[in-house]
Amino acid sequence: FTESMAFPNPQHPPHAILIAYPTLGHVIPSVHLAIKLASCGFVITFVNTQSIHHQTSKAASNSSHHKDDLFAAVRDSGLDIRYTTVSDGLPVAFDRSLHHEEFMQSLLHVFSAHVEELVAKIVKESVPPVTCLIADTFFVWPSMIAKKFDLLHVSFWTEPALVFSLYYHMDLLRKNGHFACQDTRKDSVDYIPGVKAIHPKDMMSYLQEKDISTVCHQIIFKAFKEIRSADFVLCNSIQELEPHTISALQAHVPFFAVGPIFPSGFIKSTVPTSLWLESDCTQWLDSKPHASVLYISFGSTVHVAKSDLLEIANGLLLTHVNFLWVLRPDVVSSEDQHPLPDGFEEAVRGRGMIIPWCSQIEVLTHPAIGGFLSHCGWNSTLESIWSEVPLLCFPLLTDQFTNRKLVVDDWRIGINLGDPCGMISKEEVSKNINRLMDEKSGAEFKSAVREMKKILENALMTNGSSVKNMEYFVRDLKTKIF
Ligand code: UDP
Repeated sequence: FTESMAFPNPQHPPHAILIAYPTLGHVIPSVHLAIKLASCGFVITFVNTQSIHHQTSKAASNSSHHKDDLFAAVRDSGLDIRYTTVSDGLPVAFDRSLHHEEFMQSLLHVFSAHVEELVAKIVKESVPPVTCLIADTFFVWPSMIAKKFDLLHVSFWTEPALVFSLYYHMDLLRKNGHFACQDTRKDSVDYIPGVKAIHPKDMMSYLQEKDISTVCHQIIFKAFKEIRSADFVLCNSIQELEPHTISALQAHVPFFAVGPIFPSGFIKSTVPTSLWLESDCTQWLDSKPHASVLYISFGSTVHVAKSDLLEIANGLLLTHVNFLWVLRPDVVSSEDQHPLPDGFEEAVRGRGMIIPWCSQIEVLTHPAIGGFLSHCGWNSTLESIWSEVPLLCFPLLTDQFTNRKLVVDDWRIGINLGDPCGMISKEEVSKNINRLMDEKSGAEFKSAVREMKKILENALMTNGSSVKNMEYFVRDLKTKIF
């Protein structure tokens, strides 16, 4: 919090309603954005869906620090973060992972009515008065609702600027025949402002797929229409990581890179955000040599084909590497709870630990971790860089293909697990695990990721780019409010 961020009248700070997109990879950075803005003097009303609230509270209550209000602990430190929930249009007990299509339909068609009702209530009752609506870029209604209640519209983008830019310039892809061109165009996309030539296979899956009638496509098309009337875009990336892409975007949208948005000090957040009970792996990790453990996780949402999971497991069997593997109960499907090969757990006893969920931040920063086999979700990528852990990339969906390109081709802080768009085999899996984890062959990736960590650290220092960008955002917001 710097001088220039001070608001003219501390009695009337800006009050933002912050609505998190209801998947964990969006809720986690939204929680930390709320804390960051509240530390800058904002009053925040944080809105979670009832479903995410129910799951996180259940996981937290099983692990002893149960809080009905996710922000209670943070508020003890003096921040004004209010907390409320809204229905996403489906019953709390509905299995959103198993019935993803219905979930997305509800977000597209039903959710906005519930949000509108809630925003009306908050606007009517709140002191200080509500000044802005901060909503995830993937929502299809923020500018409509902001306009209706005369609020500023701040869009929160939780992925790299490169991904934003490709969606934003979808019309250029259409014009040049690179839209929905899966497997048919091999030439690079070299005309997106600020984006160096990118192969079509490295674009987000939704831009590649031939069938563009899915509900996810409809959400993306609508969301990127909405974004054109946003007053501000806050992005969880770092100016120095994507300088050209960000500058080019700033010609079109008021785009502020304020990442990495982590819990302060990168310690375990006091706000419980886990969907499943966290296993404590510290003792097991303590028993392992420095940088000897491969951490494996595919994030909170995506499913992995059983055949791929078997190749990974059989590939691990061909190595002698220690590993800690997060296998979510629904990683293949919530109907297949035992996806590993028979006898796998006995075969790796002593060197392999399999758990349903953990505090990833705590695990990654443990000195025993030497590599991260990841689906390349953007939060995982940033957390890995911050922990100086090189990546073994296994992208599965959406922006993960584009993030992989940044990690492997541009920043060289990791390698591919197999052919990024094709099949993986156990032989390839074991070869690449050994390559990343071996002290000699992995050294270049370790040193590259250490350098990149410094860039992130510098961005968060006084006068660092993300701190400055947050100041500019607050300055510009003040001129619009006061
Ligand atoms: N995560 C966690 N424990 C786990 C696995 C994941 O806390 O066992 C967190 C991880 O730290 C990250 C988020 O879940 O913040 C996953 O976000 P990401 O963008 O990497 O992937 P997504 O879940 O959106 O696909």
